[in-house]
Amino acid sequence: MELRSKDSYETSLREFLKFDILVICPNCSNRAIVKSDNFSFGKPNEGAIKVICVNCGYNKRLLEKPTSVLYATNSKTVTGRYYVIGGAFDPFFYLPLWLKTDFEDNTLWAYNMEHLNFLRGHIEAKLRERNGQELSNKSLGSRLPKWMTSKRNRELILKKLSELQNK
Ligand SMILES: [Zn+2]
Repeated sequence: MELRSKDSYETSLREFLKFDILVICPNCSNRAIVKSDNFSFGKPNEGAIKVICVNCGYNKRLLEKPTSVLYATNSKTVTGRYYVIGGAFDPFFYLPLWLKTDFEDNTLWAYNMEHLNFLRGHIEAKLRERNGQELSNKSLGSRLPKWMTSKRNRELILKKLSELQNK
């Protein structure tokens, strides 16, 4: 097992892996679900992780996916799975997320409705803030990428989030 993350927001994204992740079905392009089985990095239950599509019946377990070489030396090779967090695809199968849209040079995305609601809640809170008063706590929300919470973008981002929610 390997975790790659670039910043604290990405680390915090783990919170939302407890919930099922919405992805684009590789077979029919409709909405499919990655069952994460209350995933935690401490004790991942790979046997329970799978992607299913109710539209076409596509169904694949994580254990069916080949493992990768995590590292190799002269004497040994260690294989396993990379869980990739922080991109607009699910961490297990690397399927593109269903809740994904372009925003200028960035991609706005969420793993699931829980994540999307979190983003909306935080950006709405930012809108309610008084002039120049920043949130001082070190909550997950205070680590959102700057472009997402900048004054200039807030209203538009909220609009995009609503569009995604109704997709
Ligand atoms: Zn499908």
